[in-house]
Amino acid sequence: MATFFLTALVTVVVHNTAALPDATVTRVEANVERLFTGSGLTVTWAAAATAADGFTIHVMIRRQPGGGPGSESPSATGTTIGEDHSRGGVSFVFYERVVTLAHRYHEPVDLILAYTIAHEMGHELLPAPAHSPSGLMKAEWDGDDIRRLTTGGELFTGQQIALIQRAVERDR
Ligand SMILES: [Zn+2]
Repeated sequence: MATFFLTALVTVVVHNTAALPDATVTRVEANVERLFTGSGLTVTWAAAATAADGFTIHVMIRRQPGGGPGSESPSATGTTIGEDHSRGGVSFVFYERVVTLAHRYHEPVDLILAYTIAHEMGHELLPAPAHSPSGLMKAEWDGDDIRRLTTGGELFTGQQIALIQRAVERDR
């Protein structure tokens, strides 16, 4: 069956347990949408999810820099739990670490937060381990990586885009 490139829809529920201002969340969501535009993925933001929403990603923004899942790696800015992401799943973003990373490379926190959320969404959308040597799905970003990401460098490879499309289409 032919698939129209721009029909892939993903529902994302942001759980703002870090109590970020609404305006910040709105800006970050707009940035995340923009990051996925080139992948033909349309992101729908929801306050809650139902089974009818299909592929759904829950993003929990946490403020605690210590504890929580994924905290084993001290530099990780987020983590995605579980192995089966055939219908989406749950990702955590460590806000304090996002702030630290943003300050280190003199980038807006909103932007690095958007990259981090998009990276964790990538873990839901791509087969494990999902990491690539460059781009948004690189395991850890250094200054050069962030410079490339912010100056129009490739976010996802062509293969990753195809896999993202397939992940969402499979659940329609
Ligand atoms: Zn990762």
